[in-house]
Amino acid sequence: DAGFERHEYDVVVIGAGGAGLRAAIAAHDAGARVAIVCKSLLGKAHTVMAEGGIAASMGNVYPDDNWKVHFRDTMRGGKMLNNWRMAQLHAQEAPERVLELEEWGALFDRTPEGLISQRDFGGHRYARLAHVGDRTGLEMIRTLQQRAVALGIDVFMEFTVTEILKDSAGPGGRVSGAFGYWRETGRFVVFDAPSVVLATGGIGKSYQVTSNSWEYTGDGHALAMKAGASLINMEFVQFHPTGMVWPPSVKGILVTESVRGDGGVLKNSEGERFMFDYIPEFFKAETADTIEEAEGWYADKKNNRRPPELLPRDEVARAINSEIKAGRGSPHGGVFLDIASRRDAEFIRRRLPSMYHQFKELADVDITAEPMEVGPTCHYVMGGVEVDPDTEESILTGLYAAGEVAGGMHGSNRLGGNSLSDLLVFGRRAGHNAAYAAHRLRDARPQVSADDVRAAAAAALAPFEIEHGGENPYTIQKDLQDVMQRLVGIIRKADELRESLEEIGKLKERAKRLSVEGHRQYNPGWHLAIDLTNMLVVSECIAKAALEREESRGGHTRDDFPGPDDAWGRVNLVLTLAGGDFASPVHLEHQPLPVMPDQLRELFDA
Ligand code: FAD
Repeated sequence: DAGFERHEYDVVVIGAGGAGLRAAIAAHDAGARVAIVCKSLLGKAHTVMAEGGIAASMGNVYPDDNWKVHFRDTMRGGKMLNNWRMAQLHAQEAPERVLELEEWGALFDRTPEGLISQRDFGGHRYARLAHVGDRTGLEMIRTLQQRAVALGIDVFMEFTVTEILKDSAGPGGRVSGAFGYWRETGRFVVFDAPSVVLATGGIGKSYQVTSNSWEYTGDGHALAMKAGASLINMEFVQFHPTGMVWPPSVKGILVTESVRGDGGVLKNSEGERFMFDYIPEFFKAETADTIEEAEGWYADKKNNRRPPELLPRDEVARAINSEIKAGRGSPHGGVFLDIASRRDAEFIRRRLPSMYHQFKELADVDITAEPMEVGPTCHYVMGGVEVDPDTEESILTGLYAAGEVAGGMHGSNRLGGNSLSDLLVFGRRAGHNAAYAAHRLRDARPQVSADDVRAAAAAALAPFEIEHGGENPYTIQKDLQDVMQRLVGIIRKADELRESLEEIGKLKERAKRLSVEGHRQYNPGWHLAIDLTNMLVVSECIAKAALEREESRGGHTRDDFPGPDDAWGRVNLVLTLAGGDFASPVHLEHQPLPVMPDQLRELFDA
């Protein structure tokens, strides 16, 4: 390995979205030497695409709001499967993190009194999302990025990490660094670092229709598993109710929930506001059941209950799915989202500038004059790396995870706006703890093994070794997306899930013979071949856990087990890999859900 480029840091952060940047800043502030590594150009993470806002109970619009209400909303939105301690820390610390962002230069929209404005979103009792029009993520990334660069944190961009390296001394070993390659040259790099923070985001590219971009192939999830860490809650995948459905080239692109928060309503082909037919028992007490009450809510939230269009995402996505199945869909296989007939054009263009341009440019639809056509799109994974709620360390010493790649916080369903706040709260915690852990090891740094580096290089180069009769990565990716969309989508059943596992098994076999042509210099086929092995691991985890969980809860709906089940409501499903490479079998275990202390439990009894 002597020929490989080599760098030494205290903390290496993989990912430059909100979680990664916040972690890097925290680690730097704690005195660590930090590197940020990201697959695309700095600034191009998922976070930049976030539209609606950051959930934080600052109480600027509704003074009654506080962390306890936010905590309760989050737990109820997640159908009580959330890690209570993470949900508590998140609700308590989010306001401070938003104010800190403002201190660092973020320019939020304002209330008439000059406070940070907060908007309504599904599942949140009060208007709670701090926002910048419908471009909140852009402002968040701009602010964090500027700060990280000003602090002098090293950035490795267009760089893909392919392995977490371990020092095998001691039981189970511990992190000693990371291995990866420059996408442009294909040259390998070894990082020596006692702490590694995973902040790699989601897994959406395993599905055909998704709001996620090419980068979200579940790398962090798979890196963690291959290194010996565990995942939880992987059966819970969020299908956002409103993605574009037409034209085909843009299918899946997100239509922000703010359209509904700002007054948009869903209608079927008969012009009916169908969400009133889909209010579940669990949310009856807090949801308007007549159009009159729903309309009254926009101006008077105290005396009216929320419109059913603002139920949590899983409920709305299922309702849309049912309408389409019942033959009441729109011409291109979605339903109608109408804000044009409800708000004036000036309001729409001011509050939703990106949506206005997105539809104008991509679909030739003027959303101030006509309704949009929308349908569910794979958006977010609630499942992720199992971490300690306070430190964000995984079960592998030295490996931390924060943001979408981490599990537990959102239970079975995430509320909109709760991701951006999650990134800030847990990104900071992860970076801080990773730095202190590294500091404690300053005189006894873990060692990178030359054999492991050689093995990592060989694994990455394997697709160049097969010259004849190899498998094309694009074909396997397409086949995998087809399996996941058809058999592990919004509505699931046992026989289909079994079939999906058989199909994924076959794809894993085929993937052992992945082959690519050409050189290591910028070679997209090779990049995909590497990413694909991660997508296969993650997809198997989703399908396996989905088959095991015989109930419907949040982002997991079983046609054959339609309701929630109290016994399952006390169980997390934990997944590990039996070996160190993607082809190893996935193991699944039941783990009791941590029990909430009485003090917090009382919030629900009331
Ligand atoms: P990301 O921002 O996804 O960043 C991941 C980083 O990891 C990237 O830099 C990537 O290059 C890097 N990476 C990945 N794999 C590797 C690898 N192998 N090697 C090196 N680097 C790697 N949430 C809200 O709370 N409010 C919203 O309004 C909202 N709107 C959204 C709108 C859209 C269109 C989408 C797609 C999501 C939205 N979300 C929203 C969800 C939220 O944006 C994401 O969950 C969140 O941004 C994820 O942040 P992250 O820091 O975990 O990861």
